[in-house]
Amino acid sequence: MGYWGFYKFVASSLVGLMLYVSGLVQTFPARMAQPGPNDPIYKEGMIYAPILMYHHIAPKIGDNPYYVSPDIFAQQMAWLKDNHYNVISLEKFYNGVYGNELLPEKPVVLAFDDGNRDQYTNAVPVMKKYGYTGTFYIITNNVNLGGYFTWDMLKEMVKDGMDIESHTVHHPSLGTLDETQNEYELSKSKEVLESKLGISVKHLAYPGGSFSNITIAVLKKLGYLSATTVIHGQYHTKDQSPYKIHRMHIDSDMESFVGFVTGRRKD
Ligand SMILES: [Zn+2]
Repeated sequence: MGYWGFYKFVASSLVGLMLYVSGLVQTFPARMAQPGPNDPIYKEGMIYAPILMYHHIAPKIGDNPYYVSPDIFAQQMAWLKDNHYNVISLEKFYNGVYGNELLPEKPVVLAFDDGNRDQYTNAVPVMKKYGYTGTFYIITNNVNLGGYFTWDMLKEMVKDGMDIESHTVHHPSLGTLDETQNEYELSKSKEVLESKLGISVKHLAYPGGSFSNITIAVLKKLGYLSATTVIHGQYHTKDQSPYKIHRMHIDSDMESFVGFVTGRRKD
């Protein structure tokens, strides 16, 4: 075999190998990249993908559980990188759990509630440093108020690849509202975000985790694909309603964070 013949042999072998590998990838269901049966966090038929829930990224005020200090947040983001976790978008998560998209190994979603301005100041720059994306659930009536995002901040975040979704207009307990009130909170917030930011809003976080069957019916009618709760859980399955997705409340310390993300700690 001359030089050219050898080159052709190597090239055709490589093409063959690539076709073989791409065939394998296509036939792998999403959960192949998941913990195997010998892994202590393996649960048959369940997809392990913690959604980490944050509220304020700012110096802690007393024992307020909704504050994660900026230095701890930076440590948490670095830990994800150092331990080879893959921060994925909510859309990818949704397509992986409820569709056929392949999730990467060790998937994690970053979710931020309430549109607090300290998220823009203290979380977004750290996330951009690592190339992480996150989902920000916005209370539309509070945009431009002191302590909350401005529309300009939100526009900039959209450009940076952040995902902006609804947390209603006024942050009510949706489970206590009638159908008309649910419809107002869910449709108005969606419309305002879409028209101001030129995006498509398909996901909601329930304020205070409150919802009813009326809320879910309205969400479906309005074209929302998912809604996240404040019920703790790192596992997901197609059989579980996409309108009852579990999340993990993240505290301002590394030990519980590592416990939650690795699955050693459940609540
Ligand atoms: Zn909230």
